[in-house]
Amino acid sequence: MNRTPGAVRRDQILDVRAGDRWLVAVAHPDDETFGCGSTIARAAGLGARVVVVCATRGEAGEPRPGVSADGGLGAMREQELHRAAARLGVADVELLGYRDSGFDGPPAAGTLCAAPLHDVTEVFARVVDRRRPDVVVVLDGSDGHRDHLRVREAVHAALSELSEPRPVLAEQCLPNSLMRRWLAEMRLLRPGTVYHSLDPTTLGRDDADITHVLDASAVLEQREAAIAEHSSQASPFDGLSEDLRRAFLSSDHLAVVDLCA
Ligand SMILES: [Zn+2]
Repeated sequence: MNRTPGAVRRDQILDVRAGDRWLVAVAHPDDETFGCGSTIARAAGLGARVVVVCATRGEAGEPRPGVSADGGLGAMREQELHRAAARLGVADVELLGYRDSGFDGPPAAGTLCAAPLHDVTEVFARVVDRRRPDVVVVLDGSDGHRDHLRVREAVHAALSELSEPRPVLAEQCLPNSLMRRWLAEMRLLRPGTVYHSLDPTTLGRDDADITHVLDASAVLEQREAAIAEHSSQASPFDGLSEDLRRAFLSSDHLAVVDLCA
């Protein structure tokens, strides 16, 4: 740490200023919107230049019933990503060209999880070097998807190698308290399903880790419009009660990472 004694660094997540550079690093098209669309729209609305870097085209995603992806699901999802990003006010979208690893099974050649972590870290380090972000946002991966975890791990490693002043790194989280409400609702809606075997204590992120709760109600319409652009995918908010949907979409939860720790 080499800062002027007494200097207080602005909280760049709460106090967004015109010209701030934000980089949102995700694994698949829709992560930016389903995961952190409100955070993006809020920052862009306050004048930040937000860039989304997406590792894959989401080829292994599950198309919504009735969706035909004749030209290939990856191509369709790439277009959805561009349209959703425009709705959120994103300035630029960059795809890294890995293939989607899917949930499980041995990762196929060319997939994000087949690549050595060191190589993926290098790729993200080059993006950071070119984009020079003030704030970097990743999903915290607490849903367990291996591609989400991979991006988080590679971005952590890439930023840890930088000298001060580093960008602020924030993980987008779903707090355990909100996930417990979600589980209770799912159990009521779908009795006798897998939801009854989930352990509520393991869901989402420990509330104590969350450093920032952003009121995103002012950008709710933008978030909903971006969600609608990902029409090939079932949204995780489909079928929720209005109350719970609003709880998920009108505030975003972030955990700032101490890269020195
Ligand atoms: Zn994803």
